[in-house]
Amino acid sequence: MMKKTVLVSGGAGYIGSHVSVELLSAGYDVVVADNFSNCDLTCFEGVRKITGRDDLPLVKMDFCDAAAVRKLFSDYPIDAVIHFAAFKAVGESVEQPLKYYKNNLDSFLNVQESAQAHSAKVLFSSSATVYGEPDKMPVTEESPRKPATSPYGNTKQICEDILRDTIFASKGAVQGIALRYFNPIGAHPSALIGELPRGVPNNLVPYITQTAIGKRECLSIFGNDYPTPDGTCLRDYIDIVDLAKAHVFAVRRMLEARMEADYEIFNIGTGRPVSVLELVQAFERVNGLKLNYRFAPRREGDVPAIWADPSRANTVLGWRAERTIEETLAAAWAWEKHLAGI
Ligand code: UDP
Repeated sequence: MMKKTVLVSGGAGYIGSHVSVELLSAGYDVVVADNFSNCDLTCFEGVRKITGRDDLPLVKMDFCDAAAVRKLFSDYPIDAVIHFAAFKAVGESVEQPLKYYKNNLDSFLNVQESAQAHSAKVLFSSSATVYGEPDKMPVTEESPRKPATSPYGNTKQICEDILRDTIFASKGAVQGIALRYFNPIGAHPSALIGELPRGVPNNLVPYITQTAIGKRECLSIFGNDYPTPDGTCLRDYIDIVDLAKAHVFAVRRMLEARMEADYEIFNIGTGRPVSVLELVQAFERVNGLKLNYRFAPRREGDVPAIWADPSRANTVLGWRAERTIEETLAAAWAWEKHLAGI
């Protein structure tokens, strides 16, 4: 059978690079396209090293450029596209909403247009942020999408709607899946790819590893007065390699025509809530070190608790999170040390 080709937009970034590795390992041809607005070549080179694929195609381009997207789809026989190319800093999106709406919507519209023209399947990288502050836990795919708390979150909701409406209007000609990620953390076990935040990290785990290595003085735990068992927020931390594997299951499902509906949504999480304090303590325990941290006021916009009901992904997609939080936190630390040349 002919090998299928998967385009990974934003494929040089944190999630895109891990997904590229898993797709290549599963026997797909991959085309990585990225504008390098929020990453350098480190992870792309890591993907080549891990997979031994020195011929892995890389296209430097901006997905807001409609002509460039059309050219990409005519240059490669793309069977499916996984769309990651987007801005993702929640705080920045509040300060610069137009930058977020323009980039995240334009790029997805262009991908959607070309995918439709070439009958390529579309996998959209969505987020648990679309649930807002949920009333009931854990959240299922049927839980209501509450109003987004940031322009970033709103772009995720709007892109889901664009995908759903396009699919609906095409009467079966277009198909797609949205994966709603919970909190992706960790790094590849090779320590050759991982998260590379620019400047001061917003996310918890990069802040922890940078504090441990001495790049940051002290981790602030935002809020210890939440209505949770230890007062800190609860999240569903999903290992990046587990998360990446979910994409292979979803791509296979689309390309092997096994979808039950033309548009499907899956939560990608572990189903286990972990508090910020528990995560910090697990990091210390696993890696045998003490972390400098203090309790600080709540961060605006944080929901007290959110975790997934991943049973649809478990049963329908056949995917399940496998790595333990300890393995994940050890990998995150190995990656930080790799970056520091230790
Ligand atoms: N957090 C924290 N200190 C930090 C960064 C994050 O206490 O420096 C907390 C944050 O309040 C939240 C959790 O860690 O409860 C996860 O935050 P992150 O930004 O990683 O992901 P989010 O859930 O906001 O998407």
